[in-house]
Amino acid sequence: MGLARGLDIPGESLDGVVDAISFIYDIRTKGYQNIPIGDKVVVIGLGMTAIDAATQSKRLGAKEVTIAYRRTEDEKPCTDVELDIAKLDGCNLLYLASPKEILGKDGVVQSIVFDKMELGDADANGRRKPINTGVSFTLETDMVIKAVGQVPYESLVDGAGISHDWGKVKLIEGNATNIEGVFAGGDCVNGGREVVDAVQAGKDGAHSILKYLKVI
Ligand SMILES: Cc1cc2nc3c(=O)[nH]c(=O)nc-3n(C[C@H](O)[C@H](O)[C@H](O)COP(=O)(O)OP(=O)(O)OC[C@H]3O[C@@H](n4cnc5c(N)ncnc54)[C@H](O)[C@@H]3O)c2cc1C
Repeated sequence: MGLARGLDIPGESLDGVVDAISFIYDIRTKGYQNIPIGDKVVVIGLGMTAIDAATQSKRLGAKEVTIAYRRTEDEKPCTDVELDIAKLDGCNLLYLASPKEILGKDGVVQSIVFDKMELGDADANGRRKPINTGVSFTLETDMVIKAVGQVPYESLVDGAGISHDWGKVKLIEGNATNIEGVFAGGDCVNGGREVVDAVQAGKDGAHSILKYLKVI
């Protein structure tokens, strides 16, 4: 699940627009001192990754960090604890705002336009759907961090001949895949959940492998 989902709006390729996965990866690999950070950072999304990107931005020296989410706090995908960390770090929360367009000058981001949303009926997962009110507004920014989810490495899984569902590995029995001797678990199977799920999948996978080896 290492590929960041795009926003699919104009202006995404402007300088100063980055995805949260690359941003966090760079912090880990290049070191804090080598990460460029804006003064006015806008983070799109309100999952764990968005919180990480926002709090890291603030701690790297951004003067203002705004987390924009198209639903409200009641529908947030992150935990209460994570949201509290972002609030304690001084991040602003902007609810019912869906990115429409990123604007720039000379190839560099300058502002972001949002559609103002309102909540409609619940979707299949029971979460109320955001609906565009037709009103838009603009925020000045010099850095936009996209954190609207990750997608699977479908080509990797497909290229290896492993059965999958839109890139998510399909399990045949226990944690065994369609290829004999190949087992899977964690994000690549469940589509991206939490560490506890991955740890349990590791245990279940080990159990499946031991059974395959006829050790148990
Ligand atoms: C920014 C961010 C914040 C998160 N915050 C939280 C949190 O606060 N709490 C929480 O519980 N969960 C959090 N999660 C989710 C959690 O990190 C994942 O659910 C968990 O790491 C999944 O574990 P995994 O072993 O399935 O996959 P991963 O941890 O993704 O491990 C997959 C491994 O496969 C390697 N790999 C990829 N391709 C290849 C290849 N071709 N060959 C060999 N190796 C390869 C990768 O390098 C990686 O090491 C967060 C995720 C992200 C991205």
